[in-house]
Formats: sequence, C-alpha cells, structure tokens
Amino acid sequence: MEICVIGTGYVGLVTAACLADLGHKVIGVDKDVEKIEALKNGIIPIYEPGLSDIVLKNFDKGNLTFSTDLNYAVKNSIVVFITIGTPQDKDGNADLSQVFDVSKQIGKCLEKYTVIVTKSTVPIGTGKIVKEIIQENLNFPINFDIVSNPEFLREGSAVKDFFQGDRIVIGTESKRALETMLEIYKSLNIPIIETNIETAEMIKYASNAFLATKISFINAIAELCDRTGADVVKVAEGMGLDYRIGNNFLNAGIGFGGSCFPKDILALVKTAEKVGYDFKLLRNVLEINSSQKKKPVKMLKEKFKNLEGKIIGIWGLAFKPNTDDLREAPSIEIIKELSEQKAIIKVYDPVVKESLFRVLQDKKIDTNSVIISNSPLEAAFEVQALILCTEWQEFQQINLDLVKSNMKGALFFDGRNVFNPHEMKKIGFDYICVGRNSIC
Ligand code: NAD
Repeated sequence: MEICVIGTGYVGLVTAACLADLGHKVIGVDKDVEKIEALKNGIIPIYEPGLSDIVLKNFDKGNLTFSTDLNYAVKNSIVVFITIGTPQDKDGNADLSQVFDVSKQIGKCLEKYTVIVTKSTVPIGTGKIVKEIIQENLNFPINFDIVSNPEFLREGSAVKDFFQGDRIVIGTESKRALETMLEIYKSLNIPIIETNIETAEMIKYASNAFLATKISFINAIAELCDRTGADVVKVAEGMGLDYRIGNNFLNAGIGFGGSCFPKDILALVKTAEKVGYDFKLLRNVLEINSSQKKKPVKMLKEKFKNLEGKIIGIWGLAFKPNTDDLREAPSIEIIKELSEQKAIIKVYDPVVKESLFRVLQDKKIDTNSVIISNSPLEAAFEVQALILCTEWQEFQQINLDLVKSNMKGALFFDGRNVFNPHEMKKIGFDYICVGRNSIC
C-alpha cells in the first residue's frame, strides 16, 4: 500500500520504517530540511535500538523514501499518517497548531479518496476538527475518511513495540477506512480494537494516565515506607505478584518524565475541566511527580546547607534508559536547581552528549557550570555527591569501590533504587534511595 507518514520524529520514523518493513511503499515527510537530508544520507537523527538497521534496509530496498514535499507525498499515497508533535501549550492544553496546519495542507492537495490517520496523541474530539479543516480546504469535492490510530510505542523499545505491541486501536466511522487499516496491519499478530474516533482518542489518554497514576501511587507508598520502616521494593514485589495489579510501573524513584506522560496527563486534566469535571486524582498524580523530582536537591540542601561551589555528579540524563530523549527528564530539573544554587555539575549519559546544552539553553539554564564527562567514573571524580537519575544498564555493572574511592564525598542518591542499600553502606557510601531508607 502507498503510505505517507508526516513527521519523522520518534513516532513517525519508527512508524514509517516498520510499515515499509511490512512491505508497504512509504514516504516519510518532515518540514525539517536537515533531518530529511540526514535520513536520505543514512543518518538516523535519534537513538532508538534497532531503528537504524530497519531504516537502512528498507531505504536500500526502495520501500522507504524521505521528502520535505508534503504535496507530492500526499498525492502519491492512499493512506496519510499524521505523526507530528502535540506539545503542551502555555496553559497546559495540547497545542494542536501543528496538527491543524498539516490538516490544512492535506486538504489543499487531496486529489483522490484518501484515508487520513491521526497517530499523534490528540485530545478527544480532535479527529472531528481535523475532518472539518480538511473539508474546508479541499479544492473540489473529494471523498476522504478520518481514522484515529493512537500510538503506544515506548521509546527504547519502539521497534519491538511496533511488531509485538499489546493492541492496535482503530477508531473510525467508515467501513472502507477500517478495511484499509486492517489491510495495513494484517501481517501483525496483534489484537485489534475497532471503535469510534472519540473512544480511540480516549484509550490513549486513559492508558497514559493510568500508568502515570501507578508510578505516583508507588512513589506515595515509598514516602510512607521511609516514614514507617517498610521497604518499597519488597512492597512492590508483594503487590506485583497479584495478577490483578501486575509488577510493571511499580518502581519508586524520582518520578516520570518524557515527551508523553507529563503533557498528556495535564491535557486530560484540561479536557476534564472543559466538560466541568475536576480530575483531582490526576492533579495529585502530577503533584506527587513534581515533588519526587525535587527530592535529590532537597536532600543535598539538607546535607550541605550551601551548595555554592560544591561538585555534584549526575549519572544518566535521558528520561529513561535506551533513549536520547531529554524532554521533561528529571535530570534537567535537577541541573536547573543545582545551577541556580551555583554548584558545579558533572554529568554522564551513555548516549546524550552535546544535545544537553541545547536543551539547557532553551530552558535558559546557565550552562557554564555543567561539564559533560566521558565515563561514569569521570563524572564521579572529585565530586561531593553523586545522583543517579537514569537506570542505564552501564551503571549497574560498574565497580562501585572504584567509584567511591574517586569521589571526594560519600553521598550517593540513587534516584531509581538500582543498588543494594546494604552493599552500598558496606562500601562506605552515605547511600540515600527512594522508599527504602529505613533498611539502609
Ligand atoms: P517529535 O517531536 O519527535 O517529532 C515530530 C516531527 O514532526 C518533527 O520531526 C517535526 O519536524 C515534524 N513536523 C512538525 N510539523 C510538521 C509539518 N508541518 N510538516 C512535516 N513535519 C512536521 O514527536 P514524537 O515524539 O514523535 O511524537 C509525535 C506524536 O506522537 C505526539 O503527539 C506524541 O504525544 C505522540 N506519541 C509519542 C510517543 C513517544 O514515545 N515519543 C509515544 C506515543 C505517542
């Protein structure tokens, strides 16, 4: 099937490459000229395990091409996927301006029956607006259909999630569009939920909100554990074995980040407000998350009183392992606070390097006090305290005796409960973690 995917970011590039791998003819479109040039030259602009192989393989086969020409791509496709960003606006709503701009452009260049699929995460009701915008911009009457096919991939395992996802959700009012979508995905052995557009849009938000709630729930339990003598890791294990609960998303830590949970939860709170419902539960989920992110610097302030001139190491910058995505990463907030306190910050991440400075500059964070290290050991050298923000595998294999002997101080804040508290104490660390401090 001839398909175009508009937006070649984390979702779009994975979608385009994997659809091409299923045998479809796919054009990946982006307005970012540099990104498209890089892709045409075989350079993958993001870090995502397995993505490079699948892009290059299908590019060589001729199944996958890249273009900045949306007009050409839409005219030569039967199905158009919209996979562009829906960031948070200044009031916390989903900013749909890019989706609406693209809808206008699609309307202007439609020449034949086309299925327009929204894969971006968009608030309930957006599909209908996209339809109206396309309709208003048609040059002459053409039949087209709208589908909501929200994306559930997780950065770090996105390619695997495409081929082995838990479900594919297809929301549409049109039998013809539904058949087209079923044809696209027919070789995947994944359960398909067929529904209307609004329900499909809601499934995405409800899923993200539920997962974020689980994280904030265990973080609230972790707080109680620290105050009462319990160990949150054992609590989570004991809870997770109950099949009704499950053990995923029960890791206490310094909170969730990323390009989805924070903005999507807030967007759902805003959607609720608009229809007269105060979604207190989700407001609390966000509040708990925000206080988790503040824990490391709060602890440092308690220990050192004044952070000016103190050298602090940070292990892990990305919002989770196996990605280079820094959007809403707890590390950024921690760096911001430390730099405001005039500390010197040594950071190390296995994949995030210089791009950190761009993000810090965008957020008006002083970069002068931030030093990028080439190894975890280098980031630990001569520091008064070390904070683990992201649980990359690399940190779990490191010689901790060596780390300790390289540090000036002994304070170690394990923001992801990666290490064994007893062993850390034995090595000589002043070890602090989340929800198991009473067993240290
Ligand atoms: P992204 O920012 O990585 O990519 C968006 C891309 O769209 C960029 O390359 C940008 O240049 C391009 N773009 C913007 N306007 C354009 C236009 N007019 N024409 C052509 N290209 C244009 O975003 P992402 O992380 O891939 O997320 C995309 C959507 O998918 C969002 O709604 C997000 O919430 C949702 N989503 C993301 C994930 C994830 O893990 N990243 C998972 C599920 C759903």
